Amino acid sequence: MKKLLNLTNEVLNQISEEHYNKIDDLYPIKVTDHIISEITLKNSTRLAAQFLPDARELDANEGIGAFFPEEIHNTEIVVQKYPNRCMIYTTGVCFAHCRHCSRKEKWHEKNNFSYSLFDKAYLYIKQNSHLEDVLLTGGDALANSDENIEYMIEKLSSIPHLKSIRLATRAFTSFPDRITSKLCAILEKYKKVVVVTQFNCSEEFSEKTVNAIDSIQRTGAPILNQSVLLKGINDEYRLIKDLVSNCAAYRVIPYYLFHCFNVKSIGHFRTNVEIGEKIINNLVGNIGGWWIPRYILIPDSTGIKIPLCPNGLIENSDSGIKVKDFKGRVLKYK
Ligand code: SF4
Repeated sequence: MKKLLNLTNEVLNQISEEHYNKIDDLYPIKVTDHIISEITLKNSTRLAAQFLPDARELDANEGIGAFFPEEIHNTEIVVQKYPNRCMIYTTGVCFAHCRHCSRKEKWHEKNNFSYSLFDKAYLYIKQNSHLEDVLLTGGDALANSDENIEYMIEKLSSIPHLKSIRLATRAFTSFPDRITSKLCAILEKYKKVVVVTQFNCSEEFSEKTVNAIDSIQRTGAPILNQSVLLKGINDEYRLIKDLVSNCAAYRVIPYYLFHCFNVKSIGHFRTNVEIGEKIINNLVGNIGGWWIPRYILIPDSTGIKIPLCPNGLIENSDSGIKVKDFKGRVLKYK
């Protein structure tokens, strides 16, 4: 504890031992050796703020808990929000606890992988042919053992109507050693796997991280990045541009930029929608199209994603449409 408290005080904000302990009780502090060494090596406040505690986690009581009203629980661990896809909560464990996590209220639950619950989830998907995509999430899907990961992927791969199996992990940032040759040999056997991760700043790309990305790509699985817009970490044009350029350099597809969720104890990470819009709209035209993530808002009332931009359409009426290009020119189009 002392080591993390000292590191927090050195790199981030001053925090008392009392506050540290209170935060740890409410939202357990969990960091890997890899993260500690990267923070120390780079003296990175952006990395530190994502994983080390902040006294402001204690003041906030606004925002919702970890769940959204429109989530339909089809089985104990299957949740469906959209017509053709669902997610399976495979474990409650993460390698490290991201302080901005929207599920931090669930960190106390020690849900480990359960064969009986997974088999029920598998059966549900098998019996519902409208389900074409599944997200294996948690926690961190790679916190499961290799054997359990293979068990899940093998079973799901055998369902003909399931076109893709997404694995959600932050191991590239928090624990790149988890991407072993044994794990990659398993992933390589199954052709529906897509890996979804979360890089929020360019300082997360260590040598080990880049090697882990390369190992996953050699299995044939694409890697999609879903960032969260976080105040003080990536809420500037140059920082997001740096981030997506790094992603592109390693062929990681910048997929989404989420507006930070309105969840309890993460208010200090939240910024304005105008900032996110400005950043993404500035990327249009200035960098290649596939480097630009979609900016997504998730209202607390539904939990359903709404894409905000990029969007060049200004007006659509009987007389035609009006669009705006990246040079700011408004054009009529019939
Ligand atoms: S890896 Fe994902 S689920 Fe785990 S703490 Fe981070 S954001 Fe939350």
